[in-house]
Amino acid sequence: MTDYEPVIGLEVHAQLLTDSKLFCSCSTNFGAPPNANVCPVCLGLPGSLPVLNQKAVEFAVRAALALGCTINEHSIFARKNYFYPDLPKGYQISQYEEPFSKHGHLDLELDGVTRRVGITRVHMEEDAGKNVHGMGGDSLVDLNRAGVPLVEIVGEPDLRSSAEAAAYLRTLRDILVFAGVNDGNLEEGSFRCDANVSIRPRGASKFGTRCELKNLNSFRFVQRAIDSEIARQTAILDAGGKITQETRSFDPDTGETHTLRSKEDAHDYRYFPEPDLPPLRLDGAFVERCRGAVPELPAAVRQRWVERGVPAATAATLSQHPGYVRFFDAVSSKLDSPVKAANWIANEVLRGAQVHGLSAKFSVQPDQVAELLSLVERGDISGKQAKEVYAAIEGTDKRPNDLVAERGMRVVSDESALRAACESVIAKFPDQSASVRGGKKGVLGFLVGQVMKETKGSANPKLVNELLEKLLASN
Ligand code: ADP
Ligand code: MG
Ligand code: ZN
Repeated sequence: MTDYEPVIGLEVHAQLLTDSKLFCSCSTNFGAPPNANVCPVCLGLPGSLPVLNQKAVEFAVRAALALGCTINEHSIFARKNYFYPDLPKGYQISQYEEPFSKHGHLDLELDGVTRRVGITRVHMEEDAGKNVHGMGGDSLVDLNRAGVPLVEIVGEPDLRSSAEAAAYLRTLRDILVFAGVNDGNLEEGSFRCDANVSIRPRGASKFGTRCELKNLNSFRFVQRAIDSEIARQTAILDAGGKITQETRSFDPDTGETHTLRSKEDAHDYRYFPEPDLPPLRLDGAFVERCRGAVPELPAAVRQRWVERGVPAATAATLSQHPGYVRFFDAVSSKLDSPVKAANWIANEVLRGAQVHGLSAKFSVQPDQVAELLSLVERGDISGKQAKEVYAAIEGTDKRPNDLVAERGMRVVSDESALRAACESVIAKFPDQSASVRGGKKGVLGFLVGQVMKETKGSANPKLVNELLEKLLASN
């Protein structure tokens, strides 16, 4: 048996979050009744003419810049001709020979290693409609999606495993979501991926024949489909067979891919320049304006946090959504150290967070959390009490300061009161106390824990620590 190396390149279609379609003013609203959002332009009626949506161009350029692409000042739209019931014009307006951007890259992190993979091009195109099958035996066509603006992001065949492909997709999705141009929703189809997969004997320089996989509407499916395709191609080559270039569809029920159609080549589409749209000119000022709209991207956010002491894993969790980033930055800007805030938000706040597309809803406000953590930072309440306060403020606009006052929760920092509790614990645990006296500092934590227990968590642990040390040193 030969040892094969997989070669994978992804093509992603991402919907740009404009209110209206790419070449007409129809709404892009998801979930409208079928064929509610249509007009002569997106229905392809004779005599109608496309007008380019400037907002879509801005978003597309912003996406390309976020991916490190070069922007071409001059680009052209092209007609990609094919017949399908969901394509009323009989062609899709896309970009072919001169896309508006090229030569980007993306840094993917996998198992602590960062690797740069290439992006061939980013171009704009319009979406097709949707065939709805099985309506009382009929198939119906919904053209709401026809003409919705997309960017197609064509990746170089630089990926070498299904795990890398999944990491690439996650990274790409996060960048587009942070850039504010796409909502990253695989299930609703606003972020779609086709995977091109081939294998070659390890060490070979020539690529093998590839198959294109479709219907990959979750990250898990992408990984499973690629793995099953690698296994299928390996079995064929091991048996002395040849791979046929084709488009295959992934069936999540069986975990296998099956032939959809033999692969079209570019010449099958009879691409030609779109005669109804002038060439697209992107002047320097426009491109710079788009560049100014590219926000801090997830990798930069993580680096900034890690430099301030936040553990990498926590930084990864908190940079999964731009809403999380805003929340954490708002809280940590009010505290001395961001580490407590990072842990608190990752462990407590995210549990009550709801994310949909670009919006993130929380069960508390950043200033409530900042106030709560300040109380802990100053030693006014213990970590245990903080949890109690948090449970009480969740879903309300109550102030932690008020709540702590109301419930008389401030930690006991009164030395005489705590001294009694410490003395009683020392008496109760003579062996452990002797160990500490004998130099076993590690056992001190046990005694502190016992005092905390005795005071029902209300003692100031720092003070208890000091008192116990003093008491055990003096006799
Ligand atoms: P098409 O437009 O016909 O889909 P492209 O040349 O644009 O073809 O390539 C599409 C995708 O296929 C790209 O993402 C590219 O990285 C990937 N690709 C090209 N050749 C291979 C190969 N031999 N194995 C795996 N992926 C490949
Ligand atoms: Mg392609
Ligand atoms: Zn329309």
